[in-house]
Amino acid sequence: MAGKVHLIGAGPGAADLITVRGMRLLQQADAVLYDALVQPEMLDYCPQAVLIPVGKRCNKTSTAQRFINKMLLDAAHKYQRVVRLKGGDPMLFGRAQEELQALAQAGIACEVVPGITAALAASADAGVSLTSRGQARNVLFATARVGEGEAGSDWVRPVMAADTTVLYMGVKQAAEIAAALLAGGMRPDTPLLIVENASLPNAREWAMSLAELPQAAGWELAGPAILLVGEVYRAKQALADGLPLQGLG
Ligand code: SAH
Repeated sequence: MAGKVHLIGAGPGAADLITVRGMRLLQQADAVLYDALVQPEMLDYCPQAVLIPVGKRCNKTSTAQRFINKMLLDAAHKYQRVVRLKGGDPMLFGRAQEELQALAQAGIACEVVPGITAALAASADAGVSLTSRGQARNVLFATARVGEGEAGSDWVRPVMAADTTVLYMGVKQAAEIAAALLAGGMRPDTPLLIVENASLPNAREWAMSLAELPQAAGWELAGPAILLVGEVYRAKQALADGLPLQGLG
């Protein structure tokens, strides 16, 4: 009989930011398939398990996803307790739907365990509320990235309407993102933050205005980075104003 799969959110990186439920399931797992964004320390919770790396940073092609789906099905046929460990929360920009669908079609039981998404960890590190009172009453989780073979996306419109926006997978496209937002009518002095490696000891953040964002495009960042945009970052941006941006390269 096929095993059961738990799709678990590993959280943003720090090994103690997984849920207690997620950690317990890792401790009992026979096999663990994990993404590139999952920190090695988290795998210390499951020394008994067969570890299967399936991550592919950035250019996640559909072929790669089909391959991951197949490895997941194979594992579920071979082991009773399978964990699929994904960075942050599995249901946000994590390709969870494809995997859930593949499992459902194969008649394999699956349960999702939520995790702390990068937006929340970045906000904690920055010490700025996504919904600072009087300034922001809504938050948009968005990406400007459009996958291979997908229809185009009008991501600028919802960003213009949101009080605070968190843009996933955007820093490499900083120049294009800035150009699109300026063309959409966003003010050049709109404050924003870039947070790299949120929740980890080597976390870094940069505050700047939208006009300055294109500089970030050339940075050689070592870890994942996220872009937070909105008036709630005005005070941070004012503090950083006039100081040279400490980019990397
Ligand atoms: N499911 C994940 C997101 C996967 S998409 C989640 O809920 O967080 C991958 C993107 O998430 C990265 O390109 C980056 O924008 C963001 N990200 C993930 N971990 C991060 C971290 N520790 N610090 C900053 N950004 C992070």
